[in-house]
Amino acid sequence: APQSKKLGVALVGLGSYSTYQLAPALQDTQHCYLAGVVTGTPVKEKQWADKYGIPTANIYNYDNFDAIADNDDIDIVYVVLPNSMHAEFCIRAAKAGKHVICEKPMAISVKECDDIINACNAAGVKLGVGYRLQSEPYTNEIKRIVREKSFGEVRFVSAEAGYRSRGNPDQWRLNKALAGGGALLNMGVYAIQGAIYGTGQNPISVSAQEFSTDPDYFKDTDESITAQFKFPNGATGNIFTSHSANVNRHYSAFDNGWLELNPANNYGPLAGRLSTGEEINFPHESQQKLQMDDFALHVLEGKPNKAPGEMGKRDMIICEAIYQSIAEGGKTIDL
Ligand code: NDP
Repeated sequence: APQSKKLGVALVGLGSYSTYQLAPALQDTQHCYLAGVVTGTPVKEKQWADKYGIPTANIYNYDNFDAIADNDDIDIVYVVLPNSMHAEFCIRAAKAGKHVICEKPMAISVKECDDIINACNAAGVKLGVGYRLQSEPYTNEIKRIVREKSFGEVRFVSAEAGYRSRGNPDQWRLNKALAGGGALLNMGVYAIQGAIYGTGQNPISVSAQEFSTDPDYFKDTDESITAQFKFPNGATGNIFTSHSANVNRHYSAFDNGWLELNPANNYGPLAGRLSTGEEINFPHESQQKLQMDDFALHVLEGKPNKAPGEMGKRDMIICEAIYQSIAEGGKTIDL
């Protein structure tokens, strides 16, 4: 078969994730490469041009970004901005005729997720969410074990995702207008994803509680949240997410065994064990490389979209239900 072309990716927002994970991963990807950047910080234009050999014509700011429509070097726009900016830039990218990758959480409301999905459908462009674990081998091994019922029927899942964060009090992640929420939107989406791939089902109801121990630091955003799910087959689940505790684990219990990942959510290598005493073991590869190549192959060859917009929206529906349950004193919310 003829060698397919490498797709050009433009990163929007050159913060830590773009700088330390995505741009390095794009040096190793097979089906896409770093072709452009979009930044609001002028000094980064030259830094990135020099470091990655990006031509001036492929460097944009937030004002002139829409002109990317005329740039044939750029096939995919990857939005890596604070959460409340995802919707605006994903929609502008779609209107410019570019395929879109949107970082997690997909947006700060279900309504915004719908707006992004609709804009991409109207423009006829592909949409993926930056759920790197959907392309990650340990995670996919869990999905396989669940799907094939290797240990029988699943009865319980527990998923924890969080870290202790006490950095700059002015950071956007502590600002509800920019972050949309706290630990839940930042790390809780990994625990929600774990609960779903660890049972192979979408939850049918949720109840939730918020814990605040440090309100002087977390003035505006949730610090720690637990939530309990019911699943269609009768299984139950529990998730915990936090900006005060380092938690990073996945556990699924079946009629005839169990599986565990610990760590479960970081950049890897992950580690896993089964009730048989076996270890789950895969060679380590950059998750971001796998994720971006999977998306490029979806665009180029119609391979499966591992993290479509509907998945990001599904998780946002669950986040909104969790916040609603907390607001209503832990009431069970049907999903
Ligand atoms: P950073 O704060 O490190 O970077 C955000 C960048 O966005 C800034 O550097 C800036 O880039 C741009 N920006 C534009 N407007 C603002 C504003 N008002 N306040 C702050 N920054 C602004 O964030 P991260 O890189 O850690 O996170 C970005 C996104 O990526 C988030 O949605 C986050 O959830 C997601 N993420 C996903 C991860 C994953 O594993 N999938 C891991 C880490 C983050 P510039 O100077 O170029 O304009």
